[in-house]
Amino acid sequence: MSSVELRKVDKHYAGYHALKTIDLQIEKGEFVVMVGPSGCGKSTLLKTIAGLESINSGQIVINGRDVTREEPGDRGIAMVFQSYALYPHMTVAENMGFGLRMANRPKAEIDAAVKRAAQILRLEEQLAKRPKQLSGGQRQRVAIGRAITRSPEVFLFDEPLSNLDAALRTQMRVELSGLHAQLGSTMIYVTHDQVEAMTMADRIVVLNKGQVEQVGSPLELYANPANIFVAGFLGAPRMNFIEMTVETADATGVTLAATGMPAFAMTGIDVSRLSAGDTATVGVRPEHLHVVEAEGTGLISFPGQVRLAEHLGRETVLYLDASPLQTTNSDSGTGNFAVQLNKISPAGIGTRLNIGFDIGDAYLFGPDGQTITPKKPVISI
Ligand code: ADP
Repeated sequence: MSSVELRKVDKHYAGYHALKTIDLQIEKGEFVVMVGPSGCGKSTLLKTIAGLESINSGQIVINGRDVTREEPGDRGIAMVFQSYALYPHMTVAENMGFGLRMANRPKAEIDAAVKRAAQILRLEEQLAKRPKQLSGGQRQRVAIGRAITRSPEVFLFDEPLSNLDAALRTQMRVELSGLHAQLGSTMIYVTHDQVEAMTMADRIVVLNKGQVEQVGSPLELYANPANIFVAGFLGAPRMNFIEMTVETADATGVTLAATGMPAFAMTGIDVSRLSAGDTATVGVRPEHLHVVEAEGTGLISFPGQVRLAEHLGRETVLYLDASPLQTTNSDSGTGNFAVQLNKISPAGIGTRLNIGFDIGDAYLFGPDGQTITPKKPVISI
């Protein structure tokens, strides 16, 4: 039995179609991260599971029970928000026990639940303090503790780390993954941050404009994005997208041409959705663009000039201006191609060099934005 099931969930806000026929099955104990750009419907989806928003049609089933019309308090869920929403006049212990007190649970039960949550979250020394005496990370742990004390069947997290600085976010990511391993509860986590999705999720749900674009494990989605949207959303720097014209398309494959780079063929692909004259997109991840030092490497290469170089120590990210047109992600101000080198590079602003890619590493997307290249192997972990 799935832990949470969404069946054809539709949600309209006064004339705005926020969720479009969402079908999703989340297994017991899974850590599912819903990710997508701001406004794609992530929070709305989470709130409909929590019962804080009603839906227009469809069903929400938690542990086999249809909860579509149930009140939030009856659904067996606990939600942790971006703003910790702690009561400033209450101690940490009182904040964590609040839900149980409201449910009129006996004091001994509340004390035991608070103690256990404090142990799990390493807050035992802080129980008598008030929220303003705590750091941001500790406050967020108290908010999580308040959820844990209620022993929910499902935890819902709405961008819980957004208010924390970068170092704390990294630490809390590790802690949340550890918490999930320890509790074994179903967790549904919403974020716009693809790094949080990649690092914490068992499965990622990519949302866009109220629709599910793709569902899968982080590495599956990274290796085999279903379309340009998913390809561009997961991975930083983003995948490079080159606008190509289909010169020929037949049973052997396609030949593709673009300004400022050599034409090349892609074989072993399904050409049924392509014809000569179409505009298609070739996608190359930054780590698959290489600096080409010599001729005859077999790479498809073209010249570029470095506009920005990020020397990060163990890696270098070069942003280059080059002639081939990018279909979507040219980050103005940083050059239109991103190249990630796993070494220190002497290249700096203004350096001219040739960059190139192996056709086997490239993705081909059709005029409709859907992936055409066959699936690439995923390293299973
Ligand atoms: P996300 O969490 O992905 O940023 P939301 O779920 O908050 O997105 O919002 C999805 C869309 O629904 C947005 O376009 C937003 O403006 C709209 N929306 C959210 N809440 C309301 C509301 N109460 N009334 C009208 N429109 C809303």
